[in-house]
Amino acid sequence: MSRVFNFSAGPAMLPQTVLEQAQSEMLDWQGTGMSVMEMSHRGKDYMSIAEKAMADLREVMAIPDTHEILFLQGGASSQFAMVPMNLLRGKKSADYINTGAWSKKAIAEAKLYCDVNVVATTEGNNFSSAPNQSELKLNPDAAYVHYTPNETIGGVEFDYIPETNGVPLVADMSSTILSRPIDVSKFAVIYAGAQKNIGPAGLTVVIVRKDLIGETITGTPSMFDYKTHADNESMSNTPPTYAWYLAGLVFEWIKQQGGLTKMAEINERKAGKLYAAIDGSDFYASPVAINNRSWMNVPFTLKDAELDKVFLEEAAKVNLVTLKGHRSVGGMRASIYNAMPEEGIDTLVKFMAEFEKKHG
Ligand SMILES: *Cc1c(COP(=O)(O)O)cnc(C)c1O
Repeated sequence: MSRVFNFSAGPAMLPQTVLEQAQSEMLDWQGTGMSVMEMSHRGKDYMSIAEKAMADLREVMAIPDTHEILFLQGGASSQFAMVPMNLLRGKKSADYINTGAWSKKAIAEAKLYCDVNVVATTEGNNFSSAPNQSELKLNPDAAYVHYTPNETIGGVEFDYIPETNGVPLVADMSSTILSRPIDVSKFAVIYAGAQKNIGPAGLTVVIVRKDLIGETITGTPSMFDYKTHADNESMSNTPPTYAWYLAGLVFEWIKQQGGLTKMAEINERKAGKLYAAIDGSDFYASPVAINNRSWMNVPFTLKDAELDKVFLEEAAKVNLVTLKGHRSVGGMRASIYNAMPEEGIDTLVKFMAEFEKKHG
């Protein structure tokens, strides 16, 4: 067996020990004689798996009792609609910060339900930075403020949590959740597709303040109502049982690593090594403003775009794969979520230096 360092933006790498545990339990979960995939989601075995995963996420992220955790389906993309459906609560408009491709999708979807005020945009600099707090033209009457703390495609990360003066703050944390400790109490809603930093695709984590649940816009399907899921421990219908189980193994893995404080330390170091390699050379460049550089998604360009193809081919020979940048940006992108071992970064940095020597 040989494993590669997979720099995919998502679905992304999972910790090897998690995959090994899942493998060892695949046919017979703890003497039940069945796979987790084959269990009734209402049986006591699966219930114990489900409850432990939720409790571990609450512990790992220090999610206060004021907030409900929902394990849903439909991806982060469904939240682009569920957020306005659940949070407008009689209001007519919402504020959105536009920092790139995912912000834009959230904005387009919200426009189906309300007036969207784009309170800041960095489109003018090709989404290479995040706006400062002082640039946000927030409306006190907005139903909520939505932003994307980490833009997965552009590799742009906010270095602060926006202050909204009491207006509920909503964050699409798909590519940054679990990368470091955050103060959950500052957020009305946090949502994330699992396939970047949580587990396999198919699970969507939503963390929502309890007092905001229960007042949807007319015509909201019950499956799009947070209350349906909050009232039923996310078991109103059949949840993505296997993805939920695997996410639980990842939460346990994070605890074993030393929790989010330790993850942050490791992530900062990993990203730091890669940015140092980019900045330390005239051959590679990062398009992103220094204080907005993502710890999780690192886009970079080569001096000569003609070399991109050779770079990808030679990288693959040393087990470094899926480094091609998003088609809208070009160049390279290394996604280095929690499960990317530090050895993967070291191997990439070494390869980059060798490639430059050969082709620079
Ligand atoms: C990947 C991603 C999405 C889309 O997630 P799906 O689960 O595929 O719907 C949305 N927002 C951000 C920031 C992402 O990284």
